[in-house]
This record gives sequence, structure tokens and C-alpha cells, in this order.
Amino acid sequence: MNLRGLLLCVCIAFLLMSCQSSEPEVRWALVIHGGAGGIDRDRMTPEVQNAYHQALASALAAGEEVLRAGGPALDAVTEAIQVMEDSPLFNAGRGAVFTHEGRNELDASIMVGSGLDAGAVAGVTTVKNPILAARAVMERSPHVMLSGQGADQFASEQGLETVTPDYFYTERRWKDLQQVLQGGSEVAEISENGDWKFGTVGAVALDLDGNLVAGTSTGGMTNKRWGRIGDSPVIGAGTYAANDACAVSATGHGEYFIRRTVARDICARVEFLGEDLKTAAAQVVGEQLVAMGGSGGIIAVNRAGDMVMEFNSKGMFRGSVNSAQAAQTAMFKD
Ligand code: ASP
Repeated sequence: MNLRGLLLCVCIAFLLMSCQSSEPEVRWALVIHGGAGGIDRDRMTPEVQNAYHQALASALAAGEEVLRAGGPALDAVTEAIQVMEDSPLFNAGRGAVFTHEGRNELDASIMVGSGLDAGAVAGVTTVKNPILAARAVMERSPHVMLSGQGADQFASEQGLETVTPDYFYTERRWKDLQQVLQGGSEVAEISENGDWKFGTVGAVALDLDGNLVAGTSTGGMTNKRWGRIGDSPVIGAGTYAANDACAVSATGHGEYFIRRTVARDICARVEFLGEDLKTAAAQVVGEQLVAMGGSGGIIAVNRAGDMVMEFNSKGMFRGSVNSAQAAQTAMFKD
């Protein structure tokens, strides 16, 4: 073999080796959360843990089906969130927490990273799936955010499924309210042993076309009053998506997430400081929020398919799947 042949062989061998050692390309990705807070192994029976794993797995499967078939991230996010809204386990849709007056007032938002389109509803009481109402605001109204009775009316005019208030009644959430009322605290920020209790749901996705979408849905905080609205329906706080940067959905003590503009801040760090997604999320959730006393977490994805699940609370219900990795669910820190 002459020198040229030898060089050619070396080059081919090098190329083959580098192909084998590099990570498989991520073509689509989906990350979900079901709330962050005092999620502790010692306080959850194996049956309860199993129920959460199953519910998270079902939500992932619904979104995965869309993405695997080449469908849009927008559909994947709404499908995954709908599954969690329909489950009584999460503080969104069916399992929403109660207000001070014993009502359920729901918030949701969605954002598409390609054109920065967004929609949100706050304080809705009759639409079964608030995430669909948020999507309808984005797609079928000239507005970004609707609230209260008007938002309910819009949802029903759009033909979305409506329910009577008893649909949202779950004994567990009713007991939570009674406990907080007896304890005399303002909102259910701290449970009996000092932990945080939340349960909002969210999803972020990257589709085969390279588009990013984020969505979030919640019942807010137990014992909230005066029409309180948290971060979940606030674009830039609880939800944000921009194809140039990332898609983020948050969960935690909403007042801090609004003041810190958490979702947008993470994307802005990626866009303007050039930080990688994990570093940006760790800075905002692990440093800045902690310094303010804000508890909670976020999920995020970017166009490279990097998936981040960052929280400063004891645990966060979460799950992820992508074109190169099977679905995984988790809830505790380790
Ligand atoms: N962020 C939500 C709110 O403040 C609560 C949660 O995430 O559980 O309304």
C-alpha cells in the first residue's frame, strides 16, 4: 500500500471511530413536570409513588406519539398537559386546589418558539382543559391573555368542553384547604412539616421541524384569594419559548417566579450570555431564586435537544423522552 492509500485508510478509520463515539443526534424531545415541592420518599407510599410514575408515563406517551410521527411540538405539549389535567393527582384541571372561598380557579398558558405566539387564561372556572383555552386564545383571538368570566365565555364560544364546578372537587384538595384554613396561614405555602406543596403541570417540546413550544397549567395555590394569579399564565414568568434560545415551563411559588421573570431570564441568559441551558437554569433556579427565598423548579429544552430539569425544592414530579432515549420518570432528588 502506498502512502496515499495508507493516509486514506487512517482517515476512514478516524471518521468511523468519531462517528461511533459521538452522542446520537436528538431529533425530537419532550420534558414534562407535575409540580415541585416537599416531595419526600418517606411521606409517599410505594402505591402513591407508582400512581405518579404511571400518570407521568401516560403524559409522556401522549406527547411522544405526536413527536415520533413528525407532529408539531404544539400538539405534543397540549396532549401531554391534557393527560395531567385530566388526572386528579396534579394541581391542574381535575385535581386543582381550592381558593379561600372553596372554588377552583385555573390558570394556563402556552407559547410557540417559532413566531413567539402565545396565549393564556387566568381564573377560569368552567373549561375542562385550561391548556386548550390558552391555545384557543393564541390561535383564535387577537389577544394573548384572557381572564375570569370572559375567558370562560370565550372558551365555551370556541366549542371547548365545559364542566360544572363539582368536576374539580377532589377530597384530598378540599382537606388541604381545611387544613390551611385551620392553620390560619395566608396561602398553603408551607405544610405541617415546613415543606412546600405545589403540583402545577407543564411540558416543553422540540419537534422534527426544530420548533420549540412550552405550556403550563395550574390551579394555583391553596387558599388563594382576591383573584390571585400566579406565574403559570404569565408569559415570561411561568412559560416562555423562543426558537433562538429555549422553551421553559416553571412550577413553584408564583410570586417569586413573576418577580424574577424566571422562564424568560433563563432563555435570555442562553441567548445573550451564551450560557448552556443547564448553566442558565442552575443560575436562575439554584442561585437567584434561592437568594430571594423562592422555591420550585423548571423544565427546559433547546433546539439541540438538551433537556434540563432543575429544582431547588425537595423534589419535582418530572419525566423526559427523546428520539435517542426511552421515557424516564422521577420525583425525588436522587
Ligand atoms: N406556580 C404556581 C402558582 O404560583 C403554583 C405551582 O407551581 O404549583 O400559581
